[in-house]
Amino acid sequence: MSEDYRSMWEGLGLDLVAHDALLEVLGKGYQDIYLAQKDRPDGMGYFDFVISEVHGLRIKELLDEKAAGRKVIGSFCVFVPEEIVRAVDGTLVGLCTGADFAMDEVEKLLPRNTCSLIKSAFGFKLGKVCPYLESADMIVGENTCDGKKKSYETLKNLVPNLYVMDIPQMKSAEGRSLLKAEYLRFKESVEELTGITIDAARLKKGIEIVNNKRRAIHRLSSLRKADPAPISGLDALLANQVFFYDDPGRFTDSVNKICDELEKRIDKDEGVFPKGTPRLLLSGCPMAVPNWKFPWIIETSGAVIVGEESCVGERGTRNLTDDNWDTVEELMEAIVDRYFQVDCAIFTPNPDRLEHIVEMFEIYKADGVIHYGLQFCQPYLMESMPVEKALETKNIPTLRIDTDYSMEDVGQLKTRVEAFVELIK
Ligand code: SF4
Ligand code: SF4
Repeated sequence: MSEDYRSMWEGLGLDLVAHDALLEVLGKGYQDIYLAQKDRPDGMGYFDFVISEVHGLRIKELLDEKAAGRKVIGSFCVFVPEEIVRAVDGTLVGLCTGADFAMDEVEKLLPRNTCSLIKSAFGFKLGKVCPYLESADMIVGENTCDGKKKSYETLKNLVPNLYVMDIPQMKSAEGRSLLKAEYLRFKESVEELTGITIDAARLKKGIEIVNNKRRAIHRLSSLRKADPAPISGLDALLANQVFFYDDPGRFTDSVNKICDELEKRIDKDEGVFPKGTPRLLLSGCPMAVPNWKFPWIIETSGAVIVGEESCVGERGTRNLTDDNWDTVEELMEAIVDRYFQVDCAIFTPNPDRLEHIVEMFEIYKADGVIHYGLQFCQPYLMESMPVEKALETKNIPTLRIDTDYSMEDVGQLKTRVEAFVELIK
């Protein structure tokens, strides 16, 4: 890393010693997991570059944007509509919450039995290691699960620029009205933050930018139907993770280039694993950078992941926003319609999610489903039991896993996954 980056981190108020430690964990994890893979598409060099520059060049770009008067908004959830942020020439960044950090400090503020994602968000703030958190002009929390919504009451004391968005819990007409009201309130807040009034042209442009990212990911997902799989689940997960923070145009072009390469691989019947390798669908809690532990376990246990039913995956990207409208009011309705389809487990009841799991199982020609739940995540762990039962009645082999970010259970998880892979072979 150049000295420029060090002074940039210092300027953001990061703890340089702790930050070095985080970068070391990130670099080592990436080397051991990603660079150890064989036959990766050449185009993955883009992601290698992005990860190596995640706290370097990308932060410099964001700071340059800020110096030019643009705003950076951080978020923890796919319910925050990126279209509205792009409409004011802003940048929405997903705040990585994929590693344990400063846990002693975190557990002075949050109960021990809080999920790893929430603890990680606090750890990155308390440990002063996240340049995205520190460079954001506004951070958006959302009232999804109880853990998040109550933790924001405490996070507000640490992050003065926290904006909390309410999210419905039922897919009713009243639920949709609440989401619409909250998106209109968010639009006004973003306009106030930037001094820009969103007109139809701006909103259409914002929708187009985000839809293009989604289209590139849809294309990549579709190529994963092939056997042999042309790309590993680990690499596809990385694409879904980088979706949240790289420059959207660069991301879209790079993913499309990888897809061009994968199409050639498929024509030649080439893949990253031998033809006939057991194919698994991963379903459940989101996996943020650098949480690569469980996909790595699966793909070193004789199986390949062919789809992610997750917010860092298809639940987050599956629907486009309809931009075939002329007024801001109509376009805002289209945004509400798009996000109201997200089938997060915070909704009750939540039958769409089960349908999507079955649909993805069929589309990606999977042989089994692994439900990934983070310990203490009530919505997904509660939902995992009926999901498992329902899949089993459809003769879809299912394995339910609860874990966290620690590496202590790797051996035990590997044994369970290997036994499952043997079963579905
Ligand atoms: S799982 Fe639910 S709360 Fe978490 S990011 Fe997805 S939509 Fe948001
Ligand atoms: S993993 Fe579960 S408990 Fe944790 S933030 Fe997401 S929905 Fe909430």
